[in-house]
Amino acid sequence: MKRRDFFKNISSVALLGAIPSISKSQKLKPEYNWKMVTTWPKNFPGLGTGAQYLADTIQKLSGGRIKVSVYGAGELVPAFEIFDAVSQGVAELGHGSAYYWKGKNDTFQFFSTVPFGMTANEMNSWLYKGGGLKLWEEAYDSFNLLPMAAGNTGIQMGGWFNKEINSLSDLKGLKMRIPGLGGEVLRRAGGTPVNLPGGELFTALKTGTIDATEWVSPYNDLAFGLHKAAKYYYYPGWHEPGTTLECFINKKVFSQLPSDLQHIVKGAAKIANIDMLCDFISKNNDALEILKNKHKVDIRPYPEEVLNELYEISKDVVKELSVKSNFAKEVYDSYSSFKDKTKNWNDISIKPYLNL
Ligand code: CA
Repeated sequence: MKRRDFFKNISSVALLGAIPSISKSQKLKPEYNWKMVTTWPKNFPGLGTGAQYLADTIQKLSGGRIKVSVYGAGELVPAFEIFDAVSQGVAELGHGSAYYWKGKNDTFQFFSTVPFGMTANEMNSWLYKGGGLKLWEEAYDSFNLLPMAAGNTGIQMGGWFNKEINSLSDLKGLKMRIPGLGGEVLRRAGGTPVNLPGGELFTALKTGTIDATEWVSPYNDLAFGLHKAAKYYYYPGWHEPGTTLECFINKKVFSQLPSDLQHIVKGAAKIANIDMLCDFISKNNDALEILKNKHKVDIRPYPEEVLNELYEISKDVVKELSVKSNFAKEVYDSYSSFKDKTKNWNDISIKPYLNL
């Protein structure tokens, strides 16, 4: 009895201590009211919800001192104008992916994904422990932005087509939505790459404005109903083996934060980064089952010969980026040497294990 009373008293004391401080922080007006603009439809599964999760995490970890309101694509600024909007201080935060801004600098694409490049785990290891994030910060510095990795889709699917892809020549004349370096590879294979925000894909494919599209993977592709606009679903996503999503913050806004809040913002991004990857992996499994069994989608591998040819083109495309500037060379060298080293370790770890 005594023991029980003791614990009862302890927990009452703990509760008394905790309740007032929680309600106090909730009543406090936030010290910072931020806007986060995104390239995704608001709360779009995986990407939009990932942006919202980051906003919520910043708010919770800061005890309500920072409030973040999330705006979907087009709500405050169009999808592909968020980079400039945050750079100019129209919004404090942006959520997108670095390859969308290749028009500013080709080198940015290394910080999203590279065709036949690194997977999610390898990207994170390069960014956090291999010098990648430091280079990314340098890349965005002159735009008054501080980038953070804030999500990863894992390996994507190859895309949706209305015709069979049996050889490289089947890509000739194909108008396909495929962003970043993958788009450049398609161009050299004779296709026409276009970039469209996710929200426009279904209609563009259905009406024949584009012949084919890639988007992400079963989880996201099912949400857009792409199986209702195309017949064949090819894998793997050679062009996006582990795409990093980003959160960038206006540098002036960040530099004016007290040190604890700076750590909270960076920590929240790290939490959101891993959370999104887990979200994709778990939900892809379920969505794949629905696409296969309920919608009877024709899911096919790209022929090995096509993948080999795309790989050869990709090597040239990626290498050519490296000669554009000293900085591009530095990023290319850093990325490539990290990737080569992961290969050595993969060859005696994950690869033989998965083959088992
Ligand atoms: Ca994609």
